[in-house]
Amino acid sequence: MADQPLALVTGASRGIGAAVARALAPTHRLLLGGRDETALAGVAEGLPSAKPWRVDLTDPAAIADAAGRIDELSVLVHSAGVAKLGTVAESGADAWRDNFEVNLVAVAELTRLLLPALRAARGHVVLINSGQGLSARPGWGPYAASKFALRAFADVLRAEEEPNGLRVTSVFPGRTDTDMQRSVVEGEGGEYTPSNYLLPDSVAAAVSGAVTASDDAHLTELVIRPRPR
Ligand code: NAP
Repeated sequence: MADQPLALVTGASRGIGAAVARALAPTHRLLLGGRDETALAGVAEGLPSAKPWRVDLTDPAAIADAAGRIDELSVLVHSAGVAKLGTVAESGADAWRDNFEVNLVAVAELTRLLLPALRAARGHVVLINSGQGLSARPGWGPYAASKFALRAFADVLRAEEEPNGLRVTSVFPGRTDTDMQRSVVEGEGGEYTPSNYLLPDSVAAAVSGAVTASDDAHLTELVIRPRPR
């Protein structure tokens, strides 16, 4: 166990991040990112080498403090995210800021602070993007813009860090059955039918595939959609 590589998964308290943590648990020691202590303890139960990593990603001092305690890191999965939706006409500055703060700024800052630890391990950064990071729909502007920016961040990071041996994978899931999707559907006024959406475990399997790819391979972008029915 102690010689397993270390992975930090943000957003691991629930949804896709929790599924990623479960998928990586057999091969990695884990730090589980999130804010809710009870939820993190629940995910850590049954994952013997997992420890909570409780940090509010909108708090730069807390990010710096927690990142400073990591010397070597093989895998960093950015799954934490928020989806504040609305048309351009109804979205004030706060909606744009809230999406960008968690979905982009925190990702950039946490990655920057952990780069020495990632370089030390010739590590892998995985960014959970979205179909909205490839094609933006009306009503999704503030979220989609943050995810387009996240894709640009990943592309730049990959180009800059390839000489240091880092791998960078953007994952673009379609709609997935999580708390986030429930509130999106609620906001749209629709009825929530879980089976219409991807399973978080299916997204996690793609992440695991990228992370465990053979050493010569670099999976740069993965697009996952619900299967047509
Ligand atoms: P979720 O169930 O709502 O979970 C969001 C996660 O982000 C939680 O663990 C939450 O932690 C964490 N988080 C949010 N704000 C945070 C903050 N300020 N500091 C620390 N952690 C914070 O969402 P999800 O559906 O799993 O989404 C995961 C990722 O997939 C997101 O980046 C999302 O954009 C992307 N995605 C989702 C879908 C979908 O349909 N669900 C589709 C495509 C892409 P707390 O428990 O502390 O709140």
